[in-house]
Amino acid sequence: MEIKKAEFTLSAPMESMCPKDTKPEYAFIGRSNVGKSSLINMLTGKKNLAKTSATPGKTLLINHFIINNEWYLVDLPGYGFAKRSKKEVQKLEQMINGYILQREQLVNVFLLIDIRLEAQKIDLEFMEWMGTSSVPFAIIFTKADKLSASKVLQNLNAYKKVLSETWEELPPIFVTSSEKKQGRDEVLDYIEQINKG
Ligand code: GDP
Repeated sequence: MEIKKAEFTLSAPMESMCPKDTKPEYAFIGRSNVGKSSLINMLTGKKNLAKTSATPGKTLLINHFIINNEWYLVDLPGYGFAKRSKKEVQKLEQMINGYILQREQLVNVFLLIDIRLEAQKIDLEFMEWMGTSSVPFAIIFTKADKLSASKVLQNLNAYKKVLSETWEELPPIFVTSSEKKQGRDEVLDYIEQINKG
C-alpha cells in the first residue's frame, strides 16, 4: 500500500470520544519504549506523526491518524511502564480495554514486541486476554536492526515456541526495524489485504 496521506485526527480519553465515522481501524500497542512511535512514523513515512514517548508525564490518550482518507491508524498508550502509580495503571487499563472491547470498527490490533527480549508476562497475558475476547491481533517484532540476522531468527523461534504452549494457531508475525525501514511493505500490505476484504 502506498501512503498518500497521513494526518493526525484527534486524541481521546475514551472510546466514546473517538471519531464517529466507521472507517476501519488498526490499533498499535505495546510496552513503553518498544518502538511504537518510531514504527508509526516509519509506516506512514512521516517523521514526527507519532510523538516519541521520551516525554515524562505524557498524557495518556487514544490517538487517531487518518490514512489515505480510508482507514485509521490508532496509537494506543504504552503499557507496563514501571514508574506509574497503581491508580494510573488502572485508568490506563480501563481506557485500553474499553477501546478494544467497545470499538466496533476495530479490525486488528498490532502488538509490538522488542525482538531482543525474552517473552514478557505482561505481553503474553495481554494476548491471552485478546484471545478470550475474540480480538484479532498480529505481532510486530521491533528493533530487528539491533541484532544479527541469526539472533533475530533464534529469538523469533524461541518466542514462537512460547506461544505454541498456549496457541494452537500462531498469530500473523512481522519482523521490523524502524531504523532500516524493514517490514514496512509487509505490514502495510497486510492492512491493505484486509481492507480490500
Ligand atoms: P515508544 O515508547 O514505544 O513510542 O518507543 P519509541 O518509538 O519512542 O522508541 C523508543 C527508543 O527505541 C527510542 O530511543 C528509539 O530511537 C529506539 N528505537 C525505536 N525503534 C527502533 C528501531 O527499529 N531500531 C533502533 N535501533 N532503535 C529503535
